[in-house]
Amino acid sequence: MTHSGLSRVLSGIRAAEAGAGRPPGSVTLVAVSKTFGPEEIVPAIEAGQRVFGENRVQETRAKWPDLRSRWTGLELHLIGPLQSNKAAEAVALFDAIHTVDRPRIAAALAAEMERQNRHPKLFIQVNTGREPQKAGIDPDAADAFIDSCRNGHALEIAGLMCIPPVEDDPVPHFSLLAEIAARNGLQGLSMGMSSDYTAAIACGATHVRVGSAIFGVRDPA
Ligand SMILES: *Cc1c(COP(=O)(O)O)cnc(C)c1O
Repeated sequence: MTHSGLSRVLSGIRAAEAGAGRPPGSVTLVAVSKTFGPEEIVPAIEAGQRVFGENRVQETRAKWPDLRSRWTGLELHLIGPLQSNKAAEAVALFDAIHTVDRPRIAAALAAEMERQNRHPKLFIQVNTGREPQKAGIDPDAADAFIDSCRNGHALEIAGLMCIPPVEDDPVPHFSLLAEIAARNGLQGLSMGMSSDYTAAIACGATHVRVGSAIFGVRDPA
């Protein structure tokens, strides 16, 4: 079965990989299904998509256990802010968490991962635009935070994530994230959304988080 939005985005990813001289399949598509229900998600699964992104623990708990029981190989990525009182549930529900951004969360995740013996992949969110209202560690504090996650909490870090300010050219933000990752020996780069995933791939993204280009416009309510 095919899915027009998904096929279009996958073709765009393959073209951007080729354009950047990167091997096909080097970029993982995280299909962002927040706000959409099973009637929109199931066709994407039937078309072969297995990696999905959600931004809320509660919504994920309501939507995904049923879908998980019907298909194998599904992978869920948390792309929204995480409160430390939800760390236990996040570790239980998700295969990757892209929003580790402060010591309290790092500590809570480390404790839960040990307790549950479950090890979701972890990405550290960097607030590359230094926006006061946005989550993420300040770029100047990133090296020290990465070090404290690794050496203070014994966490394995898969990579970095950013959400550039909406009004900015995203490229300098993607480049800054890639630079911080490179100097810390991190391979993973979660960056790029519907409007800019090809630019992100050119800058080295390993994970693009794409919602509306696959599923259509989200209902703001
Ligand atoms: C919603 C969301 C996306 C997807 O955005 P689109 O513009 O619909 O592709 C990506 N990343 C994060 C963190 C999001 O919250």
